[in-house]
Amino acid sequence: TSAPLGHSVIPIVNKLQDIFAQLGSSSTIELPQVAVVGSQSSGKSSVLEALVGRDFLPRGSDICTRRPLVLQLLQTKRKPDGTEEEYGEFLHLPGRKFYNFSDIRREIQAETEREAGGNKGVSDKQIRLKIYSPNVLDITLVDLPGITKVPVGDQPSDIEARIRTMILSYIKHPSCLILAVTPANADLANSDALQIAGTADPDGYRTIGVITKLDIMDRGTDARNFLLGKVIPLRLGYVGVVNRSQEDIMLNRSIKDALASEEKFFRSRPVYNGLGDRCGVPQLAKKLNQILIQHIKTVLPGLKSRISSALVSVAKEHASYGEITESKAGQGALLLNILTKYTEDDLLGSAFSSMVEGKN
Ligand code: GDP
Ligand code: MG
Repeated sequence: TSAPLGHSVIPIVNKLQDIFAQLGSSSTIELPQVAVVGSQSSGKSSVLEALVGRDFLPRGSDICTRRPLVLQLLQTKRKPDGTEEEYGEFLHLPGRKFYNFSDIRREIQAETEREAGGNKGVSDKQIRLKIYSPNVLDITLVDLPGITKVPVGDQPSDIEARIRTMILSYIKHPSCLILAVTPANADLANSDALQIAGTADPDGYRTIGVITKLDIMDRGTDARNFLLGKVIPLRLGYVGVVNRSQEDIMLNRSIKDALASEEKFFRSRPVYNGLGDRCGVPQLAKKLNQILIQHIKTVLPGLKSRISSALVSVAKEHASYGEITESKAGQGALLLNILTKYTEDDLLGSAFSSMVEGKN
């Protein structure tokens, strides 16, 4: 099974990639980065992990993410015998393959300490991790330290400003998708995440609001109005999620169990009835996938013209050989057909368009 993030996008990208490869050109579609922002312990790392569908990020009630983690997912071919191989590799440990995802977490922790010390220090020096798997989309995710206000441990007195600058350096890029994570048990209207996302993306074209910890809201309160965008409107809207609690982490509860109990949570809360498209990690993944498909739709015309001109020169080359071949030229024509279909059909991203147009 593939990661929730990318699930519906992988077949499309693979198909395009295959055709491009046959034409002898490799790099095709560059997908936007996805970064998580929010206050400390809001659940950013938990959300990323759930989207990837693997346990490998340090999470906890204290400050865990103390350096930016740039996580590059890279799709590999399934082995001929059908077996899957999934492993991680760190830039700082070239050549060493981590097949055990708990070891990956331990190495992130160790490498965090090497640079930022053992006493809550924060560093803007990246940790770069690649995850190779047949089940992922080629995309880069960035886990960032959370916004904190009061310096603790080795943190300098201007820690808040430093972390904000660090976060902005990632999310200011116009192609970066921002997951603005706000815990539901805090004052939603004063969300650090939405505030900083708003600085980088004032029109809200690339910010998705994620409300975590719906399970531990004050009794008698709920996040319904927030999810509906009635408190702080957001163009791309909100998704509410329930991640694993600290206790779940201590008990080593699996992602699969967590997803099942999240589903049960929403089913058993009448207040979230009718908000099905705004509740749960699978919906968040779906929303992101739709945005990625929309992105692909946007870049296709550019790719198409590149292919067209490549095709013309291939055709000329063939003509100069004086032979009719159906290999490259034929495939090029096929590719053009497919690109045209993807560009003009409403098949892809129609859901996204309606989402964007409907929510202003
Ligand atoms: P980060 O600092 O923003 O990366 O937050 P983490 O993902 O490390 O989570 C911080 C703490 O909050 C951990 O103890 C998580 O188990 C807990 N947590 C995160 N999301 C939820 C949630 O939806 N419900 C509950 N009950 N706990 C959560
Ligand atoms: Mg974290």
